[in-house]
Amino acid sequence: MTFRYLLIQHTVKAVLFSSVFSKHLFHTFSFIGTVKALRNIGVKAEEITDLIITHAHHDHIECAKYFKNAALYIQKDEYEAGKGYLAENLNIRTFDEEMQICDGIKAVKIGGHSKGSSIVEITDSGKKHIIAGDECYMRDCLAKQIPTGMAYDREKSLAFIQKYGRGAYTVFLCHEE
Ligand SMILES: [Zn+2]
Repeated sequence: MTFRYLLIQHTVKAVLFSSVFSKHLFHTFSFIGTVKALRNIGVKAEEITDLIITHAHHDHIECAKYFKNAALYIQKDEYEAGKGYLAENLNIRTFDEEMQICDGIKAVKIGGHSKGSSIVEITDSGKKHIIAGDECYMRDCLAKQIPTGMAYDREKSLAFIQKYGRGAYTVFLCHEE
C-alpha cells in the first residue's frame, strides 16, 4: 500500500492534505515522514499555511501536530473522533457539510469511509480535481463503480463513486500509485 502526501503551492498559500502520518503502526519500506518529505522539496513545516484533514484515521491525522502555523480544517464529527491527535494545533476550523478553504479549494463531507470523512475539490483553470482521502483506495473501483469495502456508510460510498468516478473529475487517491 502506498501513502501519499499532497501539497499545493499557491502564490500566497501552501496547502497540505492527508496523508500526514509517521511510521507508527505500519511496517513500511522506503518510508519518508511528512516533515522530511516536505523538506526534500524545500518546504519547511512552519511554512504550511493550511492543512486539510480528510478524516481522523491515524495515518491521515497523526502528524498534524507538526504544522503549528497552519489553519487546520476538519469535518466536525472527524474532529470529535480525532481531537486527541490535535491537542497542539491552535487554529482548528471545523465544518459540517463543506468549507471553502480558499479560491478554488473546497473541503466537502462525503461520510462514506467514516462518519464525517471528506474529500477536497480543487478547481483550476476550469478543470476539476479531487483528493479522495480514503473514499476510494483503488482506481479500478472508480472505473467499475465499486464502493470501498471499508465503508462506514455504503450508500454514501456508492454515491461518491457515482458522482466522482466518471469523467468530469481527475481523482487523486491517497493510497495507490
Ligand atoms: Zn481511513
